[in-house]
Amino acid sequence: MSNVYFIPMKQADEAALSEAAARLFEEVVAREEVELAGEIPLKVHFGEKGNDTFLRPGCYQGVISRLRSRGITPSYIETNVLYRGSRTTRDSHIALAREHGFTDLPIIIADGDHGEAVTEVPIPGKVFDSVKLGAGFAPYDQFIIMAHFKGHAEAGFGGAMKQLAMGFAARSGKMAQHATVNPVVSQDECIACGACVESCNYGAIELTETAFIDHEKCVGCAACVAACPVGAIKTDWGAKDFTARLAEYAYGAGFGKRNIYLNFLLNVTQYCDCYGGHMELVADNIGVFASTDPVAIDRVCIDLLQEREGKPLFDNGRESLAHAEEMGLGSQKYELITLG
Ligand code: SF4
Ligand code: SF4
Repeated sequence: MSNVYFIPMKQADEAALSEAAARLFEEVVAREEVELAGEIPLKVHFGEKGNDTFLRPGCYQGVISRLRSRGITPSYIETNVLYRGSRTTRDSHIALAREHGFTDLPIIIADGDHGEAVTEVPIPGKVFDSVKLGAGFAPYDQFIIMAHFKGHAEAGFGGAMKQLAMGFAARSGKMAQHATVNPVVSQDECIACGACVESCNYGAIELTETAFIDHEKCVGCAACVAACPVGAIKTDWGAKDFTARLAEYAYGAGFGKRNIYLNFLLNVTQYCDCYGGHMELVADNIGVFASTDPVAIDRVCIDLLQEREGKPLFDNGRESLAHAEEMGLGSQKYELITLG
């Protein structure tokens, strides 16, 4: 059983979110007796160019000021993405982060210029016996993992677990997680716009009268799924193996660390903040959460989301929680502590 702390919020106002996150951080440190390191990177997501739902830098300011008031040195840490975009290389990634307002702290791109900086961590997995993480994470044993909780094309949802699994993985680790996922184009729905061809960094999509994905070349990065304006690219949900892979990467990144997790269950979209455009919101705002357990905090979010919306939402993501719990990363049993 793990504790998850919660502040309900209906509005996604940056200053209010910042204050809520800071208060939750203080509660977790005090009540869970978390010993803080002298340097703590904040694991963030800078948002793809054009995305309008990623967590803005203002949301982090409260936590940053609480760290500084304790004499702790903060930084932002992130990895390059697998697909072609503004965050594919270190230089372009940092440039976009600065453009998005992340100007107040040093930025560590943990997997180097092009995803080549890798550290391999052994794990007792069913799929993997080791995971490939960004080498820049290795010097630290504590992170504050800030996650915008929303949908994700393959994972079901993206929260703390996905920040660990995909967010800590070097490019080769991201490919290893995606490798069994094979998106296909619905020939009836495709309008032959070509957006998917543009989005694919691997030359895996051919466009004639409709689009066609060559699975010999496809690495399953899902950039095309997010790029398709009519939802014609479907993911093969034989992806049970994908959620296991994700859980094992989360374990490799998070097990044994003194991490603090903060989930922002607001501005919930169907797909993740790697999508470079506007997406409609699919659920009402719920609030901000904190815990030392990445499994429990994500489980609370998915449970509350379904309870409030009155229907299953991103339900396949539960598989990764079960797998991570089985490995010992955390617990799906939780006590939700609402702060007044
Ligand atoms: S076809 Fe495969 S490699 Fe290309 S964008 Fe789609 S998922 Fe990624
Ligand atoms: S983005 Fe979608 S609609 Fe456009 S060509 Fe690709 S599959 Fe067809």
